[in-house]
Amino acid sequence: MSTPATGLVLDGIDFAYGGARALNGVSLAVPTGGVVALLGSNGAGKSTTAKVIAGALRPAKGTIVFNGEAIAGLPSHQVMRRGVVLVPEGRLVFAQMTIQDNLMMGAYKENRSARVAELLEQNYARFPRLKERRHQLAGSLSGGEQQMLAIARGLMAEPRLLVLDEPSLGIMPKLVQEIFALIRRIAEQGVSILLIEQNARASLELAGYAYVLEKGRIILQGEGTRLLADAFVQNAYLGTDA
Ligand code: ATP
Repeated sequence: MSTPATGLVLDGIDFAYGGARALNGVSLAVPTGGVVALLGSNGAGKSTTAKVIAGALRPAKGTIVFNGEAIAGLPSHQVMRRGVVLVPEGRLVFAQMTIQDNLMMGAYKENRSARVAELLEQNYARFPRLKERRHQLAGSLSGGEQQMLAIARGLMAEPRLLVLDEPSLGIMPKLVQEIFALIRRIAEQGVSILLIEQNARASLELAGYAYVLEKGRIILQGEGTRLLADAFVQNAYLGTDA
């Protein structure tokens, strides 16, 4: 894929946990307005990539550019200020806080209460189920609903690029479909998406472009529809029903 003029571009990213190499020359791009999938099995380096992008980990080598600005090594709050927001794996909602308070935490950079109220209404319109239950504790939600809350909380920060780390992990199939439909709608509203997933089929159906990560290296990339039809991807990631 040619390098986009705007959006996110990772080039030659290396990262190691102590002596253990987790990323080896990872290059990928998410063009503005695009949905790009990053696929890979357990331990491939997907979450490490997400954390490096979000500023939680500093790469040993390589560059990360977002809308023309170098962001590798910036602390995570600075990366967020530029519009790159990570919804981490495992959702990490505050179980002992209400749904509404969890959402308000997402609007960390906004101190005008009228704007926060507007953002809340926007996200309640996207996630009616959260509105109905806004005064309940987040811990009372099902896993899938907590994932929706985590995504909604990310959207409260008004991202230009949302990095979703395994949004379908551990969620029952019916809700998984709902979450993928939501991701599609969020993208249609102009938020670029990097969708990190093990659920290859649903991701490839949604993504314009996809990368496959194995042992810290990008081993394959292409348009979502092309990878869906790719024999290697079918064998390795789509199971026998492909
Ligand atoms: P999963 O789907 O299981 O989360 P992943 O593709 O997100 O996998 P990572 O979590 O990025 O993979 O892990 C990449 C490699 O780095 C793995 O070998 C993992 O064991 C290792 N690793 C991850 N976090 C740490 C850590 N904090 N300290 C040491 N090694 C780590």
